[in-house]
Amino acid sequence: MANSMVDDMRRVREENPFESMMERFDRAAQKLDLNPDLYAVMRVPNRELKVYIPVRMDSGRMEVFEGFRVQHNFARGPAKGGIRYSPDVNIDEVRALAAWMTWKCAVVNVPFGGGKGGVICDPSQMSLGELERLTRRYAAELIDFIGPEKDVPAPDMNTNEQTMAWIMDTFSMHARHTVNAVVTGKPVELGGSRGRREATGRGILFVINEAIKRFKMTPPNTRVAVQGSGNVGGIGARLLHDAGYKVVAISDIFGGIYNPAGIDIPAALAHLQATRSFEEFPGVERVSNQELLELDCDVLAPCATENQITSENSNRIKCRILAEGANGPTTAGADEILHENGVFVIPDILANAGGVTVSYFEWVQNRMGYYWREDVVNERLQDIMVASFNDVAKYAETHAVDTRTAAYMLAIDRVAYDTRMRGIYA
Ligand code: GLU
Repeated sequence: MANSMVDDMRRVREENPFESMMERFDRAAQKLDLNPDLYAVMRVPNRELKVYIPVRMDSGRMEVFEGFRVQHNFARGPAKGGIRYSPDVNIDEVRALAAWMTWKCAVVNVPFGGGKGGVICDPSQMSLGELERLTRRYAAELIDFIGPEKDVPAPDMNTNEQTMAWIMDTFSMHARHTVNAVVTGKPVELGGSRGRREATGRGILFVINEAIKRFKMTPPNTRVAVQGSGNVGGIGARLLHDAGYKVVAISDIFGGIYNPAGIDIPAALAHLQATRSFEEFPGVERVSNQELLELDCDVLAPCATENQITSENSNRIKCRILAEGANGPTTAGADEILHENGVFVIPDILANAGGVTVSYFEWVQNRMGYYWREDVVNERLQDIMVASFNDVAKYAETHAVDTRTAAYMLAIDRVAYDTRMRGIYA
């Protein structure tokens, strides 16, 4: 009994994303010999907002939702990061996600800090009208704290282009003119960037392309297992498939499908869209989301949610390359085991940075009022992802650390430099 309580407590700690983030931050700070004053400033978020959002439900009843926006760091520019709607989002998760945005923007060297928002709600149980009222009131509560120069939200789990259009409109109504640079990930027709929707998946493709070269592998002989089939996993799997990779597994929240000979991804995604499930897709084996992680494959791309690879299952992970499409899919407790087992990790703050990179392009285009062709967006994204991959790989070699620690070191070093040069306003 006592032992199982200790185990439970350890698991709760291990699965607290903020603890996982801090463990990596501390490890990197130590390796960098980070100045203690800078450490004290950088280990905490700049600002945390908590708001209560009253929403008139379709039934006529009033419901009050809880929402957050954490602005983690502004040293390099406006805060930047998505907003997530989920029944179990909490402040620790939002705080970790905000910090990851700071490190992610620094890894790819875009001029933003980090932020993240969350609203505790279950969008699957809400009508479009309820979601619109929730979004507009949440945006109104944040009105003094967001803006093109302050904090620029974007989509994340369970939010999308429509959510961004509502936020943009609410902000614009208060400003009395259209301010499209207040959010990114908007519909293209409203100032969104071409290529933004696919950007996270495309970024994953670009970093996997770089990683397989190190193992002298080519796409047709590289078996990839993808966890998730949303904006990151689904688009990532399709782009990998189109680039000639053998995608052997894919999943949604209910479970996955597996075929060691490769899956026809466009057909599987069409099936998912038509039937809302992979069930009954022919010619494949069914696997659970946990089993998918342990499949025999060359590249594993967890593109769904946090805490998938932990101290408990990391010894059973068989891939050579782990490409983290999700934010925080691996706990800090799994890092050492993966490293000892020789898994080449493309850490989340690098692997999934394609989304925020094209968000940066969107913000630039909004401010220029001049819109780029999709091939221009994709080419610039490729340049940044390839350069950042090589920066991290080189940093890992120079400092003899694993790639995750290298990515954190690179990011922290950049943020620390800017913080030191700006000085502390007193
Ligand atoms: N939500 C995405 C992420 O976690 C994108 C953030 C953005 O574009 O600002 O990276």
